[in-house]
This record gives sequence, C-alpha cells and structure tokens, in this order.
Amino acid sequence: MEETWGQFKTFEGAKFEVLNPNFTREVSGLIGGQDLTACFQCAKCSAGCPVSDKVNIQVHELMRMLLFGLKEVLQTDMVWLCTTCYTCQERCPQGISITDIIFGLKNMAFRRGIAPPGYLAARKGLYDTGRLYEPTDWEREDLGLDEVPEFDINDIRKMFDKTGLMKLEEE
Ligand code: SF4
Ligand code: SF4
Repeated sequence: MEETWGQFKTFEGAKFEVLNPNFTREVSGLIGGQDLTACFQCAKCSAGCPVSDKVNIQVHELMRMLLFGLKEVLQTDMVWLCTTCYTCQERCPQGISITDIIFGLKNMAFRRGIAPPGYLAARKGLYDTGRLYEPTDWEREDLGLDEVPEFDINDIRKMFDKTGLMKLEEE
C-alpha cells in the first residue's frame, strides 16, 4: 500500500483558492527564505533528492508553491520526509538555502497543527517515559554496556513545558 504523510497523495487536479502574498512574505522571513525569488526552476535540487520517489511533490515544486504563496505546501510529504541531507542546497546553482527553508516549513506546519502521526506519537513517548525507545538489558549486556543510567523524568518534562513542545496551535 502506498503511504503518504500529507493530506494529499497528489496535487493533480487540486484547486487552490488564492495565491497568498502574505504567506510568501512569511516564508521569506525564514532562515534562507530571503533568496526564494532567485529560484528559476531548473529542478537540479529534485534531481539529487534521495526521497524524490517517496514524496507527493518534488522539492523544486515546493519552491514554486512557496513563490505562489500556496499554503497547501505545509501539507505536503516533502516537508516531513526531507532527510535534511543538504544535497539540494549544495546543488542549487542559485545558492538558495533550500534545506534551511524546509526546516522552517516544518516549524510553521507544526505550529499550525500539521504533523505526521508518527512524530506526535514519538513526542508523547518522550514526554511519558523520557525515551524514544526502551533499551533492553540483554542488548546492553551483549554490547558490554553498563545499565541504562537513571534520570528524573521531570527534567525532561520541564524542557517540554519550557519549549511548548506539547502544544500544537490550530489555525
Ligand atoms: S536547484 Fe535552486 S534554482 Fe533550481 S529549482 Fe531548485 S531551488 Fe530552484
Ligand atoms: S535536504 Fe531534503 S529536500 Fe534536499 S535533497 Fe535532501 S532530502 Fe531532498
């Protein structure tokens, strides 16, 4: 079964309501966003992207959507499946900080309540137990490691509370 993080499997035939210049302006304010208009759609970024066969839009299309002010970009797989490998950024002939922009888009999406269920489950696990994964004693023994050190879960929760990581702001 084909899987997707985003709401849209494809944008083919999708109708976008308006081009939103405010959204483009907001993205221009992100780290790397100041060079957004320099993109001339050569698609060199997409040609080197290791997740290009897994996403519902390619990274050069994401750049186009940003220029057009299409907020639907926040619901695309590309935002979350980007591995932050920086290949696109290295390849861009216009020197656009594409990966940095995508980092910013993740934050924007998260603040709007858009995040893959897996991320939310991982966040909850971390808040509840302080761990993303429960190590087993025998695994550590096999590797010759000491027991997992004890820690105070309240320290982790304080960090969550201070950063507001348990909150998602709905639009
Ligand atoms: S490589 Fe740079 S200029 Fe080319 S499409 Fe991607 S972002 Fe635009
Ligand atoms: S940083 Fe993200 S978008 Fe850029 S090439 Fe790597 S996976 Fe693709």
